[in-house]
Amino acid sequence: MACVGCEIKEEAAQVDVEALIEEQLSLETNLVEAHILEKRLEICSACPFRVGTTCGKCGCYYKFRANLANKDCPAHYWQELA
Ligand code: SF4
Repeated sequence: MACVGCEIKEEAAQVDVEALIEEQLSLETNLVEAHILEKRLEICSACPFRVGTTCGKCGCYYKFRANLANKDCPAHYWQELA
């Protein structure tokens, strides 16, 4: 169990990442449809390469990558969705 201070820092870092992703996505025009995004995120959530908010295969924030229509999963886990 993490100490209260660490839990607060982790929570703050998480909020920053979400805000950063949202900001970056507002600049993107080629986004996947909602039903594809939902499935991609489901796969990423259960992925053994995911490290917190990051894809361990490519180093991207996985929630950012999952939104981009021109990006694929570096481990080919999204292939079934194409
Ligand atoms: S993009 Fe692929 S490899 Fe990366 S976390 Fe998602 S499913 Fe895993």
